[in-house]
Amino acid sequence: MVFIRMKITQVTSEVFEWDRPTIWNGHHLYGPGRLHKVTVFTDEGVNGVGWNGGTAAERPLGLMTGYIDYFRHILIGKNPLDTSDIVSELGDNQIKILGPSGLNTQALAAINIACWDIKGKVEGKSVHKMLGGVQDRIKTYIAGGYYAPGKGLEELRDELLYNVEELHSKAVKIKIGDPKAGIALDMKRVEMARKTVGDSVDLMVDANCALDLKSSLEFAKELEQFDVYWFEEPLPIHDYEGHSRLAESTSIKIATGENGYTIAHFATLLEKKGASVLNVDVTICPGYDVALKVANMAARSGVTIAPHGCQELQLSLAAAVKHGEFLEYYPTEVDPLRSDMFYPKLVLDSDGFVTVPDRPGIGFELNMDLLNRYRVS
Ligand SMILES: [Mg+2]
Repeated sequence: MVFIRMKITQVTSEVFEWDRPTIWNGHHLYGPGRLHKVTVFTDEGVNGVGWNGGTAAERPLGLMTGYIDYFRHILIGKNPLDTSDIVSELGDNQIKILGPSGLNTQALAAINIACWDIKGKVEGKSVHKMLGGVQDRIKTYIAGGYYAPGKGLEELRDELLYNVEELHSKAVKIKIGDPKAGIALDMKRVEMARKTVGDSVDLMVDANCALDLKSSLEFAKELEQFDVYWFEEPLPIHDYEGHSRLAESTSIKIATGENGYTIAHFATLLEKKGASVLNVDVTICPGYDVALKVANMAARSGVTIAPHGCQELQLSLAAAVKHGEFLEYYPTEVDPLRSDMFYPKLVLDSDGFVTVPDRPGIGFELNMDLLNRYRVS
């Protein structure tokens, strides 16, 4: 039964933090693992859950609770099924107060995801189906190849071997762009990666915005000889002109978008032909309504999507559309808690694809027995 007039009665915010081995990319050092959970309660007894975190990225998720406190009084009494209106009210309508985007948008993403979870549970459908549900399975690539203390070429090779042999991955990504590594060492890492995984596995590289146009052009030229599938976040996200010039100058696809918050950002990027793949993230942009609009814009421009971030949340969108090219997949290598944090466990099939679970709502739950041991607030 569809509760057309249901109302939000409460919104809660919980934060969890745990230790994990330090890793870094071209721009950021990642320390503790973190997760911010939002629960939206309704007068019909159907509750929805959304979250931020659960990936490699380190975000100050403790700050999210303040935003949820701010949003709560606006949300109570609203219909959670009006997901798009809620995004407008807590997003664009608050620009003068909270700014155009940032951690406020990420907090809003968790709210939006929780509301879609409710919508799915009410309709008895998965969010994946409600967003389009075109693909039942989708190819994954393993997020990895980070820099870490004592990690050299041998250790990188061991990691990649594990990804292709044990995890059945047919696509892997490594980081480049650490200023301490430099282009010469990074190219050795790329060469080692290609040699390790062989020619039949896709190899991506990710600079996490650490380069400028000159150095990204140099990298692109070198990367071409190793048949790199995409060059991710070469430049600062708002350097649209740079993206355009780089994309034009290389045969390697440019991927970006994991730090894109607004429709306007993606529209400008597409208009400038600055990327062939959009790594839109439903926990950043904020939530499924905006992410689907971005995906539709990408389709109109002949561009694919390969959502970034927590795979348990991105899967619904990535596999919802025909041009969902890849799902990013974080293995336990980036966070030992990952294998037990979510139900059901999302594992790769032998062909490197994952199968979308057909469960009402977002389709995954948090393992609270585990997370409660790491509760901060
Ligand atoms: Mg990235």
